[in-house]
Amino acid sequence: MSLDRLPSLRDALEAHGLWAKKAFGQHFLLDLNVTRKIARLAEIGEGDHVIEVGPGPGGLTRALLETGARVTAIEKDERFRPLLQEVADAAPGLTLIFGDALAADEAALAAGAPAHLVSNLPYNVGTPLLIKWLTGPWTPASLTLMFQREVVDRITEGPGEDAYGRLAVIVQATCTARRVLDVPARAFTPPPRVESAVVRLEPLAQRPSRTRLEALQAVTAAAFGQRRKMLRSSLKALGGEDLVRAAGLDPQARAEVIPVDGFLALADAWLARR
Ligand code: SAM
Repeated sequence: MSLDRLPSLRDALEAHGLWAKKAFGQHFLLDLNVTRKIARLAEIGEGDHVIEVGPGPGGLTRALLETGARVTAIEKDERFRPLLQEVADAAPGLTLIFGDALAADEAALAAGAPAHLVSNLPYNVGTPLLIKWLTGPWTPASLTLMFQREVVDRITEGPGEDAYGRLAVIVQATCTARRVLDVPARAFTPPPRVESAVVRLEPLAQRPSRTRLEALQAVTAAAFGQRRKMLRSSLKALGGEDLVRAAGLDPQARAEVIPVDGFLALADAWLARR
């Protein structure tokens, strides 16, 4: 059997008696035009290796496989095993793994070769997964990810904008980030209460070292933990005014106006004092 002989996603769900479970953050994309668009935006093709988190009924998985890519899909909900096995039987390029993506060893899955991440992420674990992929020991070749629109704002906005904070700093210190598609709630089954968007992240060739990233996490946690306070107060426990001056920044400035480079300078100044 080939992919185009598979039943529609709706029929497949019905045949297997499956429905969306809230606890797993399940909102499915059953329109292959939307999933194909995401696969195109992911810029993957023949011979590429994609790791997909949360294939669910497999709509995005099918679109990724159609490009000729190999897909390793990690799904936590065991109920989808028989349905996804049918997709794997139709497309030899699909490897299925059942378990928690937070505990997955992506380096082992990628086996030393580049791999791209593409996912319509479960909302409840989207941000921890992103932090793991950006600061952990394994670096993806690219990331094309669906989030709630509000999370995409927190990823892409810059200094002085409302949603600029820790997440934007960590993402933009490690990647270029572009919002590439808005997806209305009605595109999902069942529709979530919020709107969604796809963000495309490309890891920088010169990523900060793990030590620097750990320091960046520490200074951004303190600075944005009290984002309305001046840096000399919010960073008191890490070195206060002296630390801020050592980083070449104004001790009276607030976290929300400091650019990513400023936070990297703070991380370096903090490491130098330890
Ligand atoms: N990719 C499918 C689609 O676009 O229709 C489903 C997307 S749905 C938003 C999120 C999927 O992630 C669900 O299938 C859910 O069971 C799965 N999931 C939730 N938490 C997970 C985790 N920790 N590890 C792996 N998969 C998870």
